[in-house]
Amino acid sequence: MTFINVAVPVPGLDLLTYSAGPDGRVPAIGVRVVVPLGSRSVTGIVVGVGGTGGAGDKTIKPIRQILDETAFIPEEVIALARWTAEYYAAGPGEAITAVLPPKARGSRADAHKSVRVAAITAAGLDALGGEGLTRKQSDALQLLAGTPTGIATADLARRGFASDSLSRLAKQGLVTLRADRVDRDPFGASSYAAQAIDAERQLTPEQRAALSRLRALADARAFRVALLHGVTGSGKTELYLRLSAAVRDAGRRVLLLVPEIALTPVIASLFRQTFGERVAIQHSGLSDGERHDQWQRIRRGDIDVVVGTRSAVFAPLPQVGLIIVDEEHDASYKQDESPRYNGRDVAIVRGQRAGALVLLGSATPSMETHYHAMNAKYERVTLERRVLDRPLAAVTIVDMREEYAAEGPDVILSRPLRAALRTRLERREQALILLNRRGFATAVFCRQCAGTLDCPNCSVSLVIHGEGAARRARCHYCNFSMRVPSACPLCAGPYLDQTGFGTERVESELRAACPDARIARLDRDSIRRKGSLTALLSKFRDGDIDVLVGTQMIAKGHDFPRVTLVGVVSADVGLGVADFRASERTFQLLTQVSGRAGRGEQPGEAVVQTLYPDHYSIQLACRQDYAAFYEKELLFRRAMRYPPFTSIVNAIVRARTFAGAMDDAADVVQRIRATDGALLVLGPAPAPLGRLRGEYRAQLLIKGTNRKRMREALMRAVAARPELAKRITIDVDPLSVL
Ligand code: ADP
Ligand code: ZN
Repeated sequence: MTFINVAVPVPGLDLLTYSAGPDGRVPAIGVRVVVPLGSRSVTGIVVGVGGTGGAGDKTIKPIRQILDETAFIPEEVIALARWTAEYYAAGPGEAITAVLPPKARGSRADAHKSVRVAAITAAGLDALGGEGLTRKQSDALQLLAGTPTGIATADLARRGFASDSLSRLAKQGLVTLRADRVDRDPFGASSYAAQAIDAERQLTPEQRAALSRLRALADARAFRVALLHGVTGSGKTELYLRLSAAVRDAGRRVLLLVPEIALTPVIASLFRQTFGERVAIQHSGLSDGERHDQWQRIRRGDIDVVVGTRSAVFAPLPQVGLIIVDEEHDASYKQDESPRYNGRDVAIVRGQRAGALVLLGSATPSMETHYHAMNAKYERVTLERRVLDRPLAAVTIVDMREEYAAEGPDVILSRPLRAALRTRLERREQALILLNRRGFATAVFCRQCAGTLDCPNCSVSLVIHGEGAARRARCHYCNFSMRVPSACPLCAGPYLDQTGFGTERVESELRAACPDARIARLDRDSIRRKGSLTALLSKFRDGDIDVLVGTQMIAKGHDFPRVTLVGVVSADVGLGVADFRASERTFQLLTQVSGRAGRGEQPGEAVVQTLYPDHYSIQLACRQDYAAFYEKELLFRRAMRYPPFTSIVNAIVRARTFAGAMDDAADVVQRIRATDGALLVLGPAPAPLGRLRGEYRAQLLIKGTNRKRMREALMRAVAARPELAKRITIDVDPLSVL
């Protein structure tokens, strides 16, 4: 009997083995099958066929149903998922969940929907210049005359043309209304006005040189990794476009990964202008239906370019010739649940298997990527100047200790920042204000007993959101929330004070300082509603917002030509933490955010408030001196045996008691040391977040140069204690060890 290995999207399950169905048919790899699992039936994916066993093996059950004739998931994507599961020490079920499109677990492809479209008629065209139309009606006809194929009524409604006025025009025979059956199109749903890209535009000499080197690499049709290291505003996106067009013209396809959902509509519409309909978007912010339609089009081969976030690295795109990872250093490429993969690194593996060029783009490359580029493992292509020789923002560092001395300890916006804001508002230019911390206040404490309001489930203090009656205390880890009590829960003292501040407080300070300005906030709290992020960004782009305050979300990749001021409220937010990447993160964030200023005609300025004006990552970010930062940081990494000089595997053991977690972690450490004496194992130690969602956590860290050995030693230790498997979190190549 032939064994069939099936991965089911159930966390923690290993591969399951079945025999062929009653009719003896053996499904191909990538085919969906329904299999018995305990008393249930589940849909899984065939990931391996082969190996035979005795026909008498009664424990092997037959497959119940085969759902596809040919592979539903391409074989190469299955292989990539299996690599991901193994490398990141995750279960195959978790990895297969990552590659499945939403709703693929049923057998029926999702239904299509229809949209109502209005189009102008010949009579409508005739009526255009004539009499007898209201202003609104003639505006609508003007608009429709420009788009002979018609415009969706939803889009018209958004522009203020209500459906009843369209119906009246239809009754007069001036427009027709029809229902179009369409694939749900996430482009259509966004009214995002992308900047038109000018095909005739002259590349700068630097861009031209970079493009010709990259084209040569792509034309070689062999695996290669290249780093495109270009300062902010040096025109990397333009190169992505032209390189993609070259690859498409040579008959291969392009996968473009971006770090943030918010960046997909802009960049995807740029690509639409070059590639038309053959561009698809893949990210988790789309509705299941939208995502599924796009996924199907990719799989059918109707797509040349896929733009998406992390998980798009598993898109079922055939004949990939180029994979671009934009802002490759970005932490959002790392998935923070199992499989804890880094989309950039999976992209490199996919490129290797497909014989493709993998292009990593950044103004602030990760230490690892830059290290490989400096050691010729990766090709290195640089853009050192901004397009049109626009200067980088001039940076002023504000020492907040001086501000506190002059203005008292409650200052949030320094005098230089307030002055710079006023100038911008007078000149009708725009400003971005960064604070990488959400909420209104970061803690509540009692003046009588000094106790703080902590999360009952986690070892952190609750963050205050909102003001006045709307005030609530929330845990940013487990989402616990409560009304802020009027007396201390510990000593019943009546004097509760708030300390620390986040984006909400900055927003309210800005409103007080600039009462006439139009101010908006962009952070995870302000964009909970689907679509509100895109709406906010396009309002800012259209100039309907003067000052946008937000977390690192505002720092990434956006191109807002009218922003001339960037304010960083507290550059130190990320420096206080005991993480080996704290300096790198801070340097990247500050460089990226100052890079948002002065991208248009007007030069930009950045004001950086800090308590540590002499810290090297703040100093060097303000000078935009990546090379000096890299050299300095590399010394630290070498001395401390951190990446890129070693690899790390971080493991967290959870238990109901602190002692239980520590004992189990100690046991794992012992077992690893006993099996492989060459590995450096640190710990056990209480994890920095010692308690999370009611569980205690202990940590251990393995450092070494051979990930396979590190992983295997750890897996053996866990295998010896099967009950531990559910209580241990393994993170290979962690971005942070917090
Ligand atoms: P980066 O991604 O490197 O930060 P972008 O690709 O966003 O930079 O380019 C910055 C701005 O310069 C964009 O508005 C882009 O349209 C424009 N741009 C890019 N290349 C050129 C060029 N060759 N000539 C004029 N403008 C350009
Ligand atoms: Zn909590």
